[in-house]
Amino acid sequence: MRPSRSSVHESYERVDEELKQTKDEVQKQPPWLDELFEQAPEAAAVLNTDDRIVCVNKEFTRMFGYEPDEVLQRPINDLIVPEALVESAREYTNQLKNGGRVEGETIRRRKDGSEIYVSLLAITISTTSGEVVNYALYRDITERKRAEERLRESEARFQAMADTAPVLIWMTGTDGLCNYFNKPWLEFTGRTMEQEIGTGWIQGVHPDDVQGCFDGFLPAFHDRKSFRMEYRLRRADGEYRWIIESGIPRYTGVGEFAGYIGSNIDITDIKRAEEERQRLHQLEADLAHINRVSMMGELAASLGHEIKQPIASAVLNAGACARWLQRDTPDITEAREAASRMVKDVGRAAEIFDRVHSLYRRDTSEWELLDLNEIIREMMVLLHDKVNRTSISIRTELDLGLPLITADRVQLQQVLMNLMLNGIEAMKDANGELTVTSKRAEDGQLLISVSDSGIGLPHGEMKHIFEAFFTTKPQGTGMGLSISRRIIESHGGRLWAISNSECGATFQFTLPSGLAASSPPAA
Ligand code: ADP
Repeated sequence: MRPSRSSVHESYERVDEELKQTKDEVQKQPPWLDELFEQAPEAAAVLNTDDRIVCVNKEFTRMFGYEPDEVLQRPINDLIVPEALVESAREYTNQLKNGGRVEGETIRRRKDGSEIYVSLLAITISTTSGEVVNYALYRDITERKRAEERLRESEARFQAMADTAPVLIWMTGTDGLCNYFNKPWLEFTGRTMEQEIGTGWIQGVHPDDVQGCFDGFLPAFHDRKSFRMEYRLRRADGEYRWIIESGIPRYTGVGEFAGYIGSNIDITDIKRAEEERQRLHQLEADLAHINRVSMMGELAASLGHEIKQPIASAVLNAGACARWLQRDTPDITEAREAASRMVKDVGRAAEIFDRVHSLYRRDTSEWELLDLNEIIREMMVLLHDKVNRTSISIRTELDLGLPLITADRVQLQQVLMNLMLNGIEAMKDANGELTVTSKRAEDGQLLISVSDSGIGLPHGEMKHIFEAFFTTKPQGTGMGLSISRRIIESHGGRLWAISNSECGATFQFTLPSGLAASSPPAA
């Protein structure tokens, strides 16, 4: 049934009367209480049992953006409760009726429609005259809520990142005990978070590495320093894998120490590859050494002669010197000349010995500033006797203006020796000429050629001659060219072969000029 116009009017009048009474009752409070209400830091509203606003304080109008007279006598739910929450606000009212107190956090709406988080306290009290009113207090907690939301978001982001990162992540609390492991860690060890936290994870560490883990972590933890260590951790399939672990202290937003966070990477495969690389490196170095030793073996007879000859000459000069001095009137001038010839002879023998010795040595990787022409000349000296025993002649065409380069002397000697011995070998059954030239190529690189007039490169095998162990010689090792190419490439150059138009072959290599000393090559 529709209420009549007059009954509506009556009920409005009644409400008005009630409001007036309640207001009077509230205003009967001592004046300091009024002031307290007015100045309270929380937004406060007094409501009658119909949820109509009887009075509000300053903070209420500020917080919700209303003028005091805009809110009086209006139902509070119409003013500050978002539509979606009207139902729950009504429940609060019911609770107030039953229990007299409601507390909680919720959302309220400002006049401009914007929403704020509030903590709400509503109580029902009876005034001195027995009137019942509701007090509602609101504290703006939007900032805190937003911060919590941001925190939750960033935690969710961290969680998502940690669980999809290809590393094992862990965290400790301020006591140094682990309190978090990411999903990849748990999948790796095949254990649960409960099993791993605290010191549980240590059960997966290889028994031989446990002490190392403590030694790596505890001093760093004590000094709040970052640390890095390697140890073996058991994978779910039982295999111990090498792990590199790095940990750093973490701090709260206000700079308080919060524990450690760290990440671990399985480096077993990298470690194996590195071991393999080192093994190959060693193998290469051994082969290069064998190559040098075998070349020296080939030259043994000639080298013996090369050393013996200046020594014999020194002996002769020593005799002559003694004779000049033994004369009745010692001829000091002649004796001095014989002695200085002797010094030269011995110096030459020592020099050859040094060159040979350095080629025999195993650990010869040393980069220095070098004159390539000088190395060519040194090789001529070492090969001098060997060539003399044949009818082969050696010729050099050296560009004397070549710039110095930074390179490994022994390795370049080895390359030249290989190429020159190959050339001599190719001409052993016939007369011939070995020509060694040095010059600057058009691109500024140094270009060295070793050209012979021998049997020429093996037919159809051109592409194999630089392969390791490829040889067409009965006593060959097939190492010389592959090692030489490796050396030149490690110096940043190129080594190749061409067939001469008439006869024989030419081997050429380039080296970048002004090469800065960097990491030494492998050979
Ligand atoms: P080795 O000399 O022990 O055979 P190398 O690697 O130095 O090993 O040479 C590989 C092969 O390349 C030789 O066996 C030979 O067939 C060919 N070769 C190298 N240098 C020459 C050259 N100057 N003339 C012709 N063939 C050559």
